[in-house]
Amino acid sequence: MPELPEVEALKDFLTEHLTRHEIVRALPVAISVLKTYDPPLTAVEGREVTAVRRYGKFLALATDGGPHLVTHLARAGWLHWKDPLPSGVPRPGKGPLALRVALETGAGFDLTEAGTQKRLAVYVVADPAQVPGIARLGPDPLAGDFDEARLAELLSGERRRLKGALRDQSLIAGVGNAYSDEILHAARMSPFKLASSLSPEETARLYEALRTTLTDAVERSRGLAAGRLKAEKKTGLRVHGRTGEPCPVCGDTIREVSFSDSSLQYCPTCQTGGKPLADRRLSRLLK
Ligand SMILES: [Zn+2]
Repeated sequence: MPELPEVEALKDFLTEHLTRHEIVRALPVAISVLKTYDPPLTAVEGREVTAVRRYGKFLALATDGGPHLVTHLARAGWLHWKDPLPSGVPRPGKGPLALRVALETGAGFDLTEAGTQKRLAVYVVADPAQVPGIARLGPDPLAGDFDEARLAELLSGERRRLKGALRDQSLIAGVGNAYSDEILHAARMSPFKLASSLSPEETARLYEALRTTLTDAVERSRGLAAGRLKAEKKTGLRVHGRTGEPCPVCGDTIREVSFSDSSLQYCPTCQTGGKPLADRRLSRLLK
């Protein structure tokens, strides 16, 4: 799933490739992706893209005098740039293609979604703030005014564990399952540590890890073509998705905790004082 760094890189890529170009067709191939009906999707047709913006993990294309086309790629969604776009009208129903946007140049992009869980969402709105997921977003961790004091304030009343808190879009925008693992590994903290229990020194460490992890990932992704972002994200991750591999910092074996619909990875030596965390799914099975 694309998170803040990948969406930021997509934003840069699309800014370069879409701005001052006209959208000639916007085709919802899978009708379920469209979450709004007024204005219709056709309202972006015949209009130039004036800006591309990122809100958390959302991407928004502003059009000249028209509505914004907003998308959230969700867990299995992706954007494919095509120059030229294949000719012919795509057939709805089969395959991962969800939405196609064509420019006057013959180039354009497809939004696709793999798997059976259909969560990719597209909105056509007068103002991006009308998208409920955007209205709920917490502060952007790369914003200039997101400082250590702001993080301390956000975590102070937080009753959840760090892993859950960091992933909550209404607390901090843009961090998902992969980068929350990476940030906690860089901060040398247990994913199950209570968010409100951090000392000032720990808050400073978490802040540093949050900014550095995301900034480094943005730097690695910047300038890459849309098609290469997924591979780059995977290469850059140090613990997430690396169960059984050695920790790049200490060499201990990276472990995981599984949940019903996701899993987290961590290094026991770096993060939990050498103690493996109970794998809830596994312990339930063993009972
Ligand atoms: Zn380690």
